[in-house]
Amino acid sequence: MTGVALAHGIGVARTFGVGPTAVVAVHDAHCAVYAGEHVALMGSSGSGKSTLLHLLAGLDIPTIGAVTWPAIGTRERLRPGPVGVVFQAPSLLPPLSVLENVTLPLLLEGISRTEAQERAAGALLILDLSELAAKLPEELSGGQAQRVAIARMLATDPRLILADEPTGQLDRATGTHVIDALIAAATTSGAGLVVSTHDPVVAARFPIRWTMVDGRLTTPGVCPCSA
Ligand code: ADP
Ligand code: MG
Repeated sequence: MTGVALAHGIGVARTFGVGPTAVVAVHDAHCAVYAGEHVALMGSSGSGKSTLLHLLAGLDIPTIGAVTWPAIGTRERLRPGPVGVVFQAPSLLPPLSVLENVTLPLLLEGISRTEAQERAAGALLILDLSELAAKLPEELSGGQAQRVAIARMLATDPRLILADEPTGQLDRATGTHVIDALIAAATTSGAGLVVSTHDPVVAARFPIRWTMVDGRLTTPGVCPCSA
């Protein structure tokens, strides 16, 4: 770990519901992600991976503890832009072409149409999708759609990339292609990368591995207090 953390979880807990049916999805998690770090967030289904990623993305607020983004700023400044998120299901907008799907978040950010289209075309090129730019989402395979979702996220030039089981619905070969694309993009830009997975083959691609068991982050278990 070097420099200032992109995202820093300090004693983070998230409980859903109240009373006897309450579920503690994440319990007392300490973690930090730095620029250039590539992390696999491992754990079986229901262990709390998505909940922790949503907290690190600022999409959800902890019940106890805090998530801070020291290298980025406040929660309001995370998206679109500094923090890019990819979910298991690609969620492309059906009436828009591939290029339009990738361009839209940039237009919403206030970027001019010309620049937005240039950046979108560049992101599609990186993911080997240029030939599909005019296609509609319904014409894509699952792997292609996931790569478009990744291109849409990368076009915003994020400093922290959070991907929640991006290969969960893909076959092995396609999943490998998607992970290759994420690692290559993060390596090129120097972004921090956290990918959740319950697949040991995917996790083995990452130099840093965090493990969740029943809502507890067993590694790293110690507060990275230098953050
Ligand atoms: P994973 O991503 O590892 O499969 P999740 O973070 O989705 O795990 O879920 C962790 C636990 O929290 C599970 O028991 C799940 O049922 C529960 N949970 C997650 N989100 C909600 C929610 N919005 N409401 C109620 N329970 C939830
Ligand atoms: Mg999940």
